Amino acid sequence: MVEFKDLIPVFDAESQCGSPVIIAGPCSAESRAQTLRTAEELASAGIRYFRAGVWKPRTRPGSFEGVGAKALPWLAEVREKTDMTPMTEIASPAHLRNALRAGICTVWIGARTAANPFAVQEIADFISGLPRGEKDRMGVLVKNPVNPDLELWIGALQRLYRAGVRRLGAIHRGFSAYGNHLYRNVPEWRIPIELKRRIPSLPLICDPSHIGGRRDLIGKISQQALDMRFDGLIVESHCDPDCALSDSAQQVTPSELSTILLSLRSCPDSTAEDSLRVYREEIDIIDEGLVSLLSRRMEVARCIGGLKIREGVSVVQPGRYSMLMEHRVADGERLGLCPEFMRRILGVIHEESVRQQLSLRGNENEIAATEDN
Ligand code: PEP
Ligand code: MN
Repeated sequence: MVEFKDLIPVFDAESQCGSPVIIAGPCSAESRAQTLRTAEELASAGIRYFRAGVWKPRTRPGSFEGVGAKALPWLAEVREKTDMTPMTEIASPAHLRNALRAGICTVWIGARTAANPFAVQEIADFISGLPRGEKDRMGVLVKNPVNPDLELWIGALQRLYRAGVRRLGAIHRGFSAYGNHLYRNVPEWRIPIELKRRIPSLPLICDPSHIGGRRDLIGKISQQALDMRFDGLIVESHCDPDCALSDSAQQVTPSELSTILLSLRSCPDSTAEDSLRVYREEIDIIDEGLVSLLSRRMEVARCIGGLKIREGVSVVQPGRYSMLMEHRVADGERLGLCPEFMRRILGVIHEESVRQQLSLRGNENEIAATEDN
């Protein structure tokens, strides 16, 4: 894209030697001691960029909302003591003003803020008014909006670019979806991949902590990101994860982080094998999504089964089944799927729903009798 033609690297050293940038630190700066202890352990592990949330956007009121501006001097102290570059999340001009005053000039915009063009524009307008030198020093990473909307993500980056930010980057943290999934936020890898295709010079960082929501998924998601040629990772790390005040389940100790990082294969030069792996990983993720969807579908089928028992309704309703088949086959055709394939898949799914509903009645023998419906 013409617009992003003169970006300056946010991460100097790594972008020169081509190895992935690693940003790590706690979800939240909770106390001076926890912030400094975590930072020192991470610095000993060779990490050079430190993250810590000061203002925390929480889904529900009453959760820990960060300690606020009083944590900013702790981040400044991290730089003095460890030489790491500290960064934090900002969601308003007031946050940014406070961060800059404390000498924190690399920040990220969170997923909820990135979804709101008014909020991003207010931040951009504030940046426009800053003196040139301060603008040049600033680095801004924009997380993807919570909803899977590439144009909205690019729009947020454009607003900042037009305000004069040249040290820009993007963080992929996955997308919210209703219901239970393997991941806390579904990766939808094709969206960040398309972002990289459109703006190749924009550093793209993966946040496996917020995608997975569970510490045991961090290694796998990080490897997928590196295989897809992401430029780096941002990982939540806490000196005592089980006692963390936010996102405890997804944080790892600095030493666990080192083990994960050592286990990652660095990305070899591009070959056909490499492209194949990227596609296969995309297929694996799609299949995992299919499994979650099937499990949710069966859950709903069992609820319907319970209702039918209570209301004295029979398990198989041929009218409903043929309408469903007809509509889904037509939907599939619109998306390029062969009708015969759709009929077979839907037939098997329906058969399993019926089996589950019958088993609620303790009568699985009826399956055979209903198979023709
Ligand atoms: C975070 O990085 O701690 C955070 C709140 O992330 P997100 O905006 O991705 O939810
Ligand atoms: Mn977090």
